Amino acid sequence: MRTAVIGFPRIGRNRELKFASEKYFRGEISEKELLEVADAIKKESLLKQKEAGITYISSNDFSFYDNVLDTAVLFNVIPKRYRELKLSALDTYFAMARGYQGEKGNVKALAMKKWFNTNYHYLVPEIEDDTEIRLVGNKPIEEFEAAGRMGVNTKTAITGPFTFLKLARFTGSRTVDDVADALINAYVELVKALERKGEGMIEFDEPGLCTDLTPADIELFKGIYNVILDNKGSVKILLQTYFGDIRDIYDEVIGLRFDAIGLDFVEGSKTAELVKRFPKDKILFAGLVNGKNIWRNDYSKTLAILKNLSTDEVVLGTSCSLLHVPYTLEGETDLSEDSKAHFSFAYEKLSELKELGELFGTDFEKDERFIRNKLLHAGRKNYEDSAVQAAVAAIKPEDYERLPKFEEREKLQKKKLGLPLFPTTTIGSFPQTADVRKNRLEFKKGLRSKEEYTEFNKNKIRECIKLQEEIGLDVIVHGEFERNDMVEYFGENLSGFLFTKNAWVQSYGTRCVKPAIIWGDVARKKPITVEWSKFAKSCTDKPVKGMLTGPVTILNWSFPREDISIKESTLQIALAIRDEVLDLEKNGIDIIQIDEAALREKLPLRKADWYSGYLDWAIPAFRLVHSKVKPETQIHTHMCYSEFTDIIPAIDAMDADVITFEASRSDLLILDALRENNFKTEVGPGVYDIHSPRVPSVEEIVTALTKMREKIEDSKLWVNPDCGLKTRGEEETVKSLKNLVAAAKIIRGQA
Ligand code: GLN
Ligand code: ZN
Repeated sequence: MRTAVIGFPRIGRNRELKFASEKYFRGEISEKELLEVADAIKKESLLKQKEAGITYISSNDFSFYDNVLDTAVLFNVIPKRYRELKLSALDTYFAMARGYQGEKGNVKALAMKKWFNTNYHYLVPEIEDDTEIRLVGNKPIEEFEAAGRMGVNTKTAITGPFTFLKLARFTGSRTVDDVADALINAYVELVKALERKGEGMIEFDEPGLCTDLTPADIELFKGIYNVILDNKGSVKILLQTYFGDIRDIYDEVIGLRFDAIGLDFVEGSKTAELVKRFPKDKILFAGLVNGKNIWRNDYSKTLAILKNLSTDEVVLGTSCSLLHVPYTLEGETDLSEDSKAHFSFAYEKLSELKELGELFGTDFEKDERFIRNKLLHAGRKNYEDSAVQAAVAAIKPEDYERLPKFEEREKLQKKKLGLPLFPTTTIGSFPQTADVRKNRLEFKKGLRSKEEYTEFNKNKIRECIKLQEEIGLDVIVHGEFERNDMVEYFGENLSGFLFTKNAWVQSYGTRCVKPAIIWGDVARKKPITVEWSKFAKSCTDKPVKGMLTGPVTILNWSFPREDISIKESTLQIALAIRDEVLDLEKNGIDIIQIDEAALREKLPLRKADWYSGYLDWAIPAFRLVHSKVKPETQIHTHMCYSEFTDIIPAIDAMDADVITFEASRSDLLILDALRENNFKTEVGPGVYDIHSPRVPSVEEIVTALTKMREKIEDSKLWVNPDCGLKTRGEEETVKSLKNLVAAAKIIRGQA
């Protein structure tokens, strides 16, 4: 059976591209040296896939930053502000990705957004009124030819025109209709250019088809591909979809003259149903090897699905690009062989494709590879915790409800805490300076004793609190000096998690994350944050806010189990965090923040599934964490990185007492949504952007607060930055927070 890979990781096995790019940004290496690193990565990926005997290997899946950005640049969708800088092609590209500040000017980067339901982020193309869309680049051609020189005959993968148009932002008066023809022509040009070079197949990536589509979307899609398919010449066109199924447009898709159609069997809940009507004259690229999670494929399931397909021409492939999984298990020496046997990263997934391809159509039941896989799926070691399972089974409806009602609690809390109007606070972390990281690292490596490590952190906490008192903040935090990462820190202190050494996954540009693996049932072994918070409280008379990560975020930023539902796993985590909440309360912490930065991450792509498929259990899981605290204990939550306007009622239903969130970059649009929905929870929309080193002026913050007061009652408004301060420098942080407190005081004078 033939096999296919949609796309491969590209940051480098040891994040070589990340480090080389960062050096290039700092001016430490030349463009040529950066290109050499990129070439080596591309070569290694192609070779690995070739060795595994993959039939359809992609080229053009490499990117220096992001494939949507590559596509924009390829078709001249380069806003004027970048063209005017008159930089080299590569530097213009990076200016679009990261902004530019230097002798030639000062421009912001393109907006960055979450790539569908993943933790990867793409750059949002901007189409201006004078953008002249046409083929101006040759990256796809170069990559096809370079692969050819290595003896690898690739298919060219490219972001499809439909998805590109759906993701693009129109900054002037033009609309999709005004540019569609030019864009279609540009794609046709590309198809022809590739045909001239001998390309056999082009893969148009169209994950946009897995979202809710309107009749106009469907017309747009048909309009685009009618022209492209009319002009494809001898090139075969593969329409590749992923991250769900294409139920809204399946009939139209199979009615067009595509040579091949790629469908996602992993996340597409309706795919199996839809392919019953797959046309005989097309090749089905069946996405059965999960491109997003790291568990070994279940061969008997996959082979059964393949066997039941009624179509003749089937290619076995990945469900989406392997970009979303780490490179390889090789070198993960800290994981036991027992557990490693259950995992499969990108390299290992290639072997799975190969094995499955070889097994299919044979008498595989007797094949040793099949038997080994079957045994593997029959059981895992040391993952069950019957006490946890029983605790989840015993959760009662009332465990999800906090009493008394919010309005009553609000009164009690105001009385107990005695905070001024417009209370000021921060989101938790303070600058993670070099000494802070050194302390953690040396402790981890055993170079520093527990006592030295603790002593260092306590000094840091003491200083941090003194600083906050001097600045005049009302609700104090301890600063999170003990945490590397808001999920890893909790995972390390809970049973059921495994950690890798090198399993990095690209999140955006040069930024990678190393998700934990949820291996088994999750339980809290001992108190996690209590000592730090207790110590912080002993340093001040002001209220100290305890700081935890919520269950939905812990789950969403880990590789989840596949043997139980993510709901079940989240509830287990929720019970563990609940114990921590209650311990903090017992130790006199009156305000507890439970961060849900990634609450929206696994929100289904289709609106119809939002509640039934996700929010209906995710929101209660959060409530479970705080439902047992006293009415006077104030529960905060914090969210960032995404749009909330459309799920405001769900956020209110988390029933926290206060929520802080990122708002400064979204032009405060969210305020209207809060008002329209009669949002009851007290709110702290961030008054300045912490992603930039810029210090906001007092006036600027006063202006932001004044706008907020138009939409939010004075008694409900908090004053805080957008997010945690850990990536910021100390100096700018102190200046910014002083201005924040000064602004709050001015506003108090006006109330
Ligand atoms: N409490 C965390 C911090 O301040 C929150 C981080 C986040 O929202 N991403 O760093
Ligand atoms: Zn945040």
